[in-house]
Amino acid sequence: MSEVDKLWELQTVLSALNEREKQMAVKPEGFAAIDREYQSANDEMSRLQEQLDGLGRERRRVDGELSDQQETLRKYQGQLMQVKNQQQYAAAWKEIDATRKHVKDLEESVLRNMTEADGLQQQLDGRRGGHGELESRYNVAHDEWQHSLGDLKKEAEELRKRAEALEATLPPRLRNEFQRILKQRNGVAVARVDNNTCSACRTRIRPALAQQLKRGDLAFCEGCHRILYMERPSS
Ligand SMILES: [Zn+2]
Repeated sequence: MSEVDKLWELQTVLSALNEREKQMAVKPEGFAAIDREYQSANDEMSRLQEQLDGLGRERRRVDGELSDQQETLRKYQGQLMQVKNQQQYAAAWKEIDATRKHVKDLEESVLRNMTEADGLQQQLDGRRGGHGELESRYNVAHDEWQHSLGDLKKEAEELRKRAEALEATLPPRLRNEFQRILKQRNGVAVARVDNNTCSACRTRIRPALAQQLKRGDLAFCEGCHRILYMERPSS
């Protein structure tokens, strides 16, 4: 087999493999419905958990500030014992009042935080309660779908092996060239010539190039730079 023939066969195998892979990626409606339900339940639980984590961080911050303020309050209350006159007494009380108010605000904020966290936790627990059942339904549907792909999977596996075997027979330079064009040209590295035209991009093939192809030489399309393949009468 000439190199061009090998490249053409490799292209044919890869196109067939690509077709199988596309078919395998399509989720049947029965599975798609439960897949959506399962993913959205997961998203919702992650969202609730993130909110809870956020509240937890806020709670720790407020708790820290609260204990600082309580410490300050004790300090002022201690000072109250040592005041020398009415003026110092009034000043100490003013500080105590302001700090008490601050402490009260922080305590209320902790309460709000706890109430909100309880509500979120209940929602999350509710979600988790039904999740095991949803997850098993998802797994069953997923297995059924994968099982139904049995033949396609087998075909794809055989095509993959065939492609590897063909690639192994190509000189490394040519294999790299093929892979490079394959990537750049949307999975089609070799284009067949029909009626002296590139079937991939419709560029006319000049007579000199056609002669090369008839000899079985490696030639590239002047329009899309793919490797060209022309059927030749078998000798
Ligand atoms: Zn072309």
